[in-house]
Amino acid sequence: NKKLFLNISDISIQKSYEDQLIKSKESAEYGKKVKENFFANMSHELRTPLNGIIGITNLLRNTGLNEQQSDMIDLLELSSQSLLGVINDVLDISKIDAGKFKIVRAPINLNELIMALYSLLKFKADENNIEFLLDVDPATPLNLMIDSLRLNQILMNLLSNAIKFTAQGYVKLTVSVLQKEESRAQIKFTVEDSGIGIPANRLTSVFESFEQAEDDTATKYGGTGLGLAIVKKLVELKGGELTLSSEEGKGSTFSFVNWFTIVHKTNEKAANAEE
Ligand code: ADP
Repeated sequence: NKKLFLNISDISIQKSYEDQLIKSKESAEYGKKVKENFFANMSHELRTPLNGIIGITNLLRNTGLNEQQSDMIDLLELSSQSLLGVINDVLDISKIDAGKFKIVRAPINLNELIMALYSLLKFKADENNIEFLLDVDPATPLNLMIDSLRLNQILMNLLSNAIKFTAQGYVKLTVSVLQKEESRAQIKFTVEDSGIGIPANRLTSVFESFEQAEDDTATKYGGTGLGLAIVKKLVELKGGELTLSSEEGKGSTFSFVNWFTIVHKTNEKAANAEE
């Protein structure tokens, strides 16, 4: 056995190698923490003055501006809002990575949430001359414990992408109940489009922060490459898994499955207390 021939110097080399490994692991952990804190603090510090700018922009609107000045204020607000969106995305990602992200569930009518989202995005689809199809399973329970802010964020991101990357055809949101028990239901959400699709070698990397499918995606379509990273982390945080199948030139399908607690009228209070 080779090990029997290890001499003292081999052992000390081995030991110092192991020490170094531990140190580098510790420093990698430390580096990760510093990075997470930096992003969390930075985004927080940037948000406050930016909200100030947006507030003043709104005040300026009522100061008797001419048409050209009004247009400039619109542009200023649009740019500020999109910067705020990016900052919020970075803040969300750093909170999730740091394990400080909170899921806040409350009794929500899923149908109403879907309909509100549909009417918000329908006009965007109309503008792009694409069909927006909706297929909600009639077996969907009326009230479920949902973090509506985050479910909205997930679906909004997926549907906005579907509309953005589809020049003709359709986008479709399907909600299907896979399993239904007395107190919980397993629901699958699918967002499908007939758009440009994603190249096979980018099917994994598009879920990473700041990654887009092509080098010229940002120039052609805008965006930052943060949306899918957040969606994936949010779905996983809720115990689900985000899957993607796509074919270039044909379209993409994103889907995820989650369990939800059913709120019956009589146990609404109990469900609230439980959460
Ligand atoms: P963004 O939309 O801001 O660029 P995302 O993280 O939401 O960032 O998406 C990352 C990339 O994945 C996009 O830039 C695009 O290249 C690709 N992508 C996402 N959704 C779709 C879709 N429905 N069809 C085609 N490509 C998509």
